[in-house]
Amino acid sequence: MNNIRNFCIIAHIDHGKSTLADRLLEFTGTVSKREMKAQILDSMDLERERGITIKLTPVRMNYSLNGQNYILNLIDTPGHVDFNYEVSRSLAAVEGTILLVDATQGVQAQTIGNLYLALEQNLKIIPVINKIDLPSAKVKETKQEIINLIGCQEEDILSVSAKTGEGVEKILAKVIELIPPPQNDKVQETRAMIFDSVYDDYRGVVAYVRVLSGNLKRGDKILMMATQKESELIEVGYFKPKYSSSDCVKAGEIGYVVSGLKNIEGCRVGDTITLKDAPSQQALPGYKDVKPMVFAGIFCQQGNDFERLREAILKLKLNDAALTFEAEHSSALGFGFRCGFLGLLHLDIFRERLEREYNLKIIVTVPSVAYQITKTSGEKTIIKSPQDLPDQTFIKLIEEPWVKSDIVSPKEYIGAIMQLVQEKHGLYQNTEYLEANRAIMHYHIPLASILVDFYDRLKSVSSGYASLNYEILNYQSADIVKLKILVAEEDVEALSFLVYEDEAYRAGRSVVQKLKESLPRQMFEVKIQATIGGKIIASERIPAMRKDVLAKMSGGDWTRKMKLLQKQKSGKKKMLSKGRVEIPSETYLAILKR
Ligand code: GDP
Ligand code: MG
Repeated sequence: MNNIRNFCIIAHIDHGKSTLADRLLEFTGTVSKREMKAQILDSMDLERERGITIKLTPVRMNYSLNGQNYILNLIDTPGHVDFNYEVSRSLAAVEGTILLVDATQGVQAQTIGNLYLALEQNLKIIPVINKIDLPSAKVKETKQEIINLIGCQEEDILSVSAKTGEGVEKILAKVIELIPPPQNDKVQETRAMIFDSVYDDYRGVVAYVRVLSGNLKRGDKILMMATQKESELIEVGYFKPKYSSSDCVKAGEIGYVVSGLKNIEGCRVGDTITLKDAPSQQALPGYKDVKPMVFAGIFCQQGNDFERLREAILKLKLNDAALTFEAEHSSALGFGFRCGFLGLLHLDIFRERLEREYNLKIIVTVPSVAYQITKTSGEKTIIKSPQDLPDQTFIKLIEEPWVKSDIVSPKEYIGAIMQLVQEKHGLYQNTEYLEANRAIMHYHIPLASILVDFYDRLKSVSSGYASLNYEILNYQSADIVKLKILVAEEDVEALSFLVYEDEAYRAGRSVVQKLKESLPRQMFEVKIQATIGGKIIASERIPAMRKDVLAKMSGGDWTRKMKLLQKQKSGKKKMLSKGRVEIPSETYLAILKR
């Protein structure tokens, strides 16, 4: 195992992880110049188009240094906070990591967030400054920030350009020198940790594994220790970066096994694979479960697409351990699903994949967090949808999730950021300095506040310079009320939502106003109201479509005109009382797109 090195690249989003991986693949000859394309490890269309990494991606490289041959296993990771789970699983499979920092941006919030994840795993950290080819690179300042952050020496920090390749080869030497080779496991029997599992139409369930002890071969009878599922391995091999089959994946190595299972539920991320005939008694610690924190209803714009929606969600779920869904029905939107996500980017990517890969036109309801309700009976429940909120009289306490957030920003924007956080019900904790002019501010803030427009506002009050990272903290009591929207005196369930009491008036007025603008006129006058507990807090009227009753009249008989208009008025009154309004899906989209 002495010639093996397992490592990750972690960084803030866009600091160049995937581009650096490209260069490493090139230098080691893993991918030929002819096959090379930018960010080659971002293999999903969506990843390539948006230029972001969503999934972790392992790759195995061969490299020789001073006459020694080495196997280098690299895992490229996503940077966005929604996909932190991918990062922490990757980190658990390796012994060290490259911490990459963009020289034009300096240390950012997710640099710090991901660094903490790596420190929790006791990993060796190699700091690298990237993008030194750019004229705006501030290498000296960035070095100082890194030194202040991790307490290393200046000469420990490498400076590279992942774009031109300058300095990149030195990284490989450092990886070999500083990252420890895999250690012997304390048990003899075969144990392999599943750090990712994917469903492939042709192969079934493929597990990405880090083998701790023993080895896995084609034909081995295996046992999944948590799910107790048994199976026979159809193929094993390494990532080059495509699947490249081999005889065996050995202790210390990272590879894949085609599990022979048809159902991904049996091959859970974090589970331990052992051999059926010589099983280990002790499973590996695994990962803590990720719980979705953001929920939204997903409905079809066309009712008869429901079956296709169901199939698409089941398919996407196969490769998305964090996604949850359950059937939901809404009188206005019909049948759909209540889906749980790790954050708004996760939701957005899911929506886009449904539309693009499955050609579905969908409606996504306003995302909300899960609230914890304590009823007067003492019973506790978690509700994921405003519709599930029990009647006010049964509620003793409503609690909402809070997050611990770090905001990194140049000093001059601190005041504006403080104000924003306060407006969003956040609580200031303390400030640290990365460097004389750049601060890390620590806050506690309700997750719901971050969901709405926090990120955009943060970017705008800091001229784009501030960055944000957060992790779930706990549940805390919240003054939450349910805002109902009535159209022509009918409750439109799909539009109701939970808001802070002190924001209810503004929110109510805004939805009512938007509805007024986007709802087509009817033959009768339509009342639009926002209510809380039966009390109307905002209301608007959409006047009836005006039929020109005077059109046929040519002359100027004044009294006859008045009579006709009077008649029209009273007719409308009648209509208003019996009117029912069909809300077109475009109107939902206009309201729900906040
Ligand atoms: P990731 O989100 O950390 O994986 O970042 P990417 O590898 O996708 O890179 C983000 C952007 O930075 C892309 O447009 C890259 O072309 C660019 N980039 C990455 N490394 C360098 C570099 O060393 N120099 C320059 N000029 N651009 C770079
Ligand atoms: Mg990337």
